[in-house]
Amino acid sequence: MTDMSHPANTESPAVAEVVKALRSAIPLLAAPERIGTIRADASRHTAGLAIDIMLNSRAAYEKYLADEIIEALVDMQSDIGWHDILYTDWNPDGTPFHFSIPGSRIYQGDLLKKNKNKDEALGRKHENHVHIDWVDFSLRLKGNNVLVYDWPPDAMKKGFGQKLFERLAFVSRE
Ligand SMILES: [Zn+2]
Repeated sequence: MTDMSHPANTESPAVAEVVKALRSAIPLLAAPERIGTIRADASRHTAGLAIDIMLNSRAAYEKYLADEIIEALVDMQSDIGWHDILYTDWNPDGTPFHFSIPGSRIYQGDLLKKNKNKDEALGRKHENHVHIDWVDFSLRLKGNNVLVYDWPPDAMKKGFGQKLFERLAFVSRE
């Protein structure tokens, strides 16, 4: 697996390009605390394979932005290669619909559709942010909590940034 290894504490190319496009297209997301990638918790985030976009599903404008971003990511999945998205919709009766959108057969459920997240606790954690990841569980580096996972080919995708930027450049309303 060494041929697929990657630098520690570094965003994979696909993660870096999505973050750059989002920050340029949507002024609200230019604030550093709005988008998180690397963190030291031996997770897919540590591996540089995941993005958290802090947009609260209970706040109308933030939810609107999140929905626009998710729609663009779904439409461009073949360019961007992401494997899973987690977020929350709200039913008319005020109950949450915690969902996952699989972009890869690595995850269960209908591809590129909102599937109910059966993990209640995990769902609740994704009411205040959109999570996007490129993880492949078969690439777990056993005992390595710094690199954590090798980067799958999908995480090496590049060249979609301009298209994503153009898709989202006019959604901001403030
Ligand atoms: Zn996350």
